[in-house]
Amino acid sequence: MSLQHRVRHAFPLRRAMVGSLQRMERASAEEIAAYQERRLRALVRLAARRSPFYREWFDQAGVHPASIRTLADLPRLPLLDRGLLLHEPDRFLVYPRRLTWPAHSSGTSGQVVTVHRTAGSSAFELAALQRQWSWFGVPHRPRSLLLRSNDPDPHRTGTLTRHVPGARQLVVSSYRLDRDRLPRLLAEIRAFDPQVVEGWPSAITLLAGLLRDAGQQLPVTAVITSSEVMTTEQTSLMREVFGGPVIDHYGQTERVAMAGNCEAGGYHQFPDYGITELLAVPGHPDRWEIVGTPLHNWGFPLFRYRTGDEVGPAPAGPCPCRRAFPLLGRIDGRVEDAFTAADGRPLPLPHTVVKNLVGLREVQVAQLAPGCFDFRLVPTTATDLPATQAQARTNVDRYFGPGQTVTFTIMDHIPREPSGKLKAAVRVTTT
Ligand SMILES: [Zn+2]
Repeated sequence: MSLQHRVRHAFPLRRAMVGSLQRMERASAEEIAAYQERRLRALVRLAARRSPFYREWFDQAGVHPASIRTLADLPRLPLLDRGLLLHEPDRFLVYPRRLTWPAHSSGTSGQVVTVHRTAGSSAFELAALQRQWSWFGVPHRPRSLLLRSNDPDPHRTGTLTRHVPGARQLVVSSYRLDRDRLPRLLAEIRAFDPQVVEGWPSAITLLAGLLRDAGQQLPVTAVITSSEVMTTEQTSLMREVFGGPVIDHYGQTERVAMAGNCEAGGYHQFPDYGITELLAVPGHPDRWEIVGTPLHNWGFPLFRYRTGDEVGPAPAGPCPCRRAFPLLGRIDGRVEDAFTAADGRPLPLPHTVVKNLVGLREVQVAQLAPGCFDFRLVPTTATDLPATQAQARTNVDRYFGPGQTVTFTIMDHIPREPSGKLKAAVRVTTT
């Protein structure tokens, strides 16, 4: 079991967190706002004292930390862009670095940021997810078939799955799903007897499609998804093969805001996890960017962080589930085409191969043809290019498998999509 995993389950304040999460789902909108404001005040005071970034900002802006008291005061704090976490993320630290652990993310954008997490924030993250699962009758620690991360060493060991015994997880390599391997894979899965299937929708639907074509079903209590926009076809395929409902949640590596669906079909903000602001997207009257202020990552406070994720209009409330959690519109912008390996295997969510390439201004992996991948790199003066290129080759070898062709193009600026967005992974040719 990983250190993080042990910390999340053994965290001493866990019982208090679970109690608070239970109270909040029965609380009124006013009680929820009071909770958010209480934590916001404490977090602002702490950040103003201890985080170099905010210490400097409060000094220079002439704003007194004690004057940030209510949600209405929040817009007086500056919006944070992803760029601020690219090079000097440590300026946001409040705790000594040794009490936090780092995580990297590109999301589906081509900028890899570093963030820090505390044990408390990790414990709260898990407890918030467990609360959502409980709405669907999923136990706190379900036996989970995980199709999110890939086997760390799939090509050398030749195994299709990996047990994480303490975590009650069976990890399936998302990059090794094909018809020939299905019978052996299915035998390993049935022996494990999962209660839930969990992970990336693109990987889960690959498995679901193989099972349906083979006339097989794998009934579970629920399918737990995150990280990607799902089509209705994907959702109905999952329901057909796995039987249970689809529980989806939205979050980010930066962990500034969380949302998820309820048993009555509403998609709710989780307002006790973080404060969600919706920022109008210029030129698009019915689109908003999600801006998050986390209320639990005390070691690394970020206020008003721009996630780059956009939502449409929220449906009119209230939700039949009667929770006072605000409803959120459809979340967009997390769609990525699968790549294809040299041997024809599909490679879902290919941005995995750039997510630890830190120290670059921009990065993108482009599929030029099946099995041919070009990394476009925009270095800074401090970038260690040979090390970055070696890491990129290692990533492709590890995640996509050996036998792929890797090239590099150094650029000043990576061309944007027609939408103006920088994507971490693009397919240049049709496959
Ligand atoms: Zn609801």
